[in-house]
Amino acid sequence: MLPLFKVAILGGDGIGPEVVAEGVKVLRAVEALLSGVQFDLVEHSVGAGEFLRRGDPLPPSTLERIREADAILLGAMGLPSVRWPSGVEMTPQIDIREQLDLFNGVRPIRLFHETHSPLKGYGGAGGRPIDFVIIRENCEGLFSERRTPRPSGRDFETDTMKITRRGAERVCRAAFQLALKRRQHCTLVDKANVLPSMAFFRKIFDEIAREYPTVTTDRVYVDAMALFLVQRPESFDVMVTENMFGDILSDLAAGIIGGMGMAPSADVGDTYGVFQPSHGTAPTIAGKGIANPIATILSVAMMLEWLDHPETLRGARLITDAVARVLAYPAHRTADLGGKTSTTQMGDLICHALP
Ligand code: ATP
Repeated sequence: MLPLFKVAILGGDGIGPEVVAEGVKVLRAVEALLSGVQFDLVEHSVGAGEFLRRGDPLPPSTLERIREADAILLGAMGLPSVRWPSGVEMTPQIDIREQLDLFNGVRPIRLFHETHSPLKGYGGAGGRPIDFVIIRENCEGLFSERRTPRPSGRDFETDTMKITRRGAERVCRAAFQLALKRRQHCTLVDKANVLPSMAFFRKIFDEIAREYPTVTTDRVYVDAMALFLVQRPESFDVMVTENMFGDILSDLAAGIIGGMGMAPSADVGDTYGVFQPSHGTAPTIAGKGIANPIATILSVAMMLEWLDHPETLRGARLITDAVARVLAYPAHRTADLGGKTSTTQMGDLICHALP
């Protein structure tokens, strides 16, 4: 019997289904090249569209079925026009992170071609590389109390930055473990000069750092990191931060490698893994066939790596190499990168670039 990996496919809303279709196309193409592994793909309807159809963006029965999968491939969820009575958008992807305890948000930032970056002197022959990973704590921080019921009619509202010892320890450990496999440098991003919750996070980072004596460290305030990501992104390897800071810095980091369509992500815990582009549903370009599917395709590669079978590891490398080969040609660009390649053409190009 071939090992069979069950993958739940959650296209979601906006451009989600369009980019996931290309991810699935590439997954099927690479499956044909792997010996001894197969993928059983099962689609589920989750998101603002599902809410409009049946009244719940993440039905409990769907979540139960998702839990049965070995991995989850997700597009994007939420639409500005579909909101809860409180005014906030539906974010079942955040609910999934919390319910499956996916504390470790892994966001690789790699510049594939010099022309993708608005920064000068990066990528290409002689240019400095941009290649680092943001580890975002996914289950607490400034998002932690977002669903706590509040009295109505108050003339103020608050949000709580919650950092627990367990939450900080496990995400810092995940960052150091990743640094061990890379260039052995780990940066804490916090606001420890102002917020007691962040001083606590720093204390725990320092404790965990002592478990990894070969990994060098530094500590940067989040506002300074916004500056350094523009001035010297090449100097970072792995950085770890709380939920909201990670959310914001991920978009800034995506901006220096070509935009949201270039930034993949993995939300992983001890048992489950959800793989999705870092971007949202981009409703203004949905249905036009112009969304960049590369973030999703690279997320498929991250999923194969996480499945950690010798053949899926090989599949992950095949996909990443194929993306690099395709993007080496400046003619191969979707609209967000100034080109004319459509979503489906980009998926086809990457399939054809597989060996
Ligand atoms: P969310 O809050 O759901 O993360 P967001 O407000 O960050 O969403 P996105 O949907 O990620 O917004 O879009 C941000 C910008 O990037 C928009 O201009 C959008 O059109 C663009 N964008 C996002 N994803 C892609 C993509 N795959 N291809 C091309 N452009 C994209």
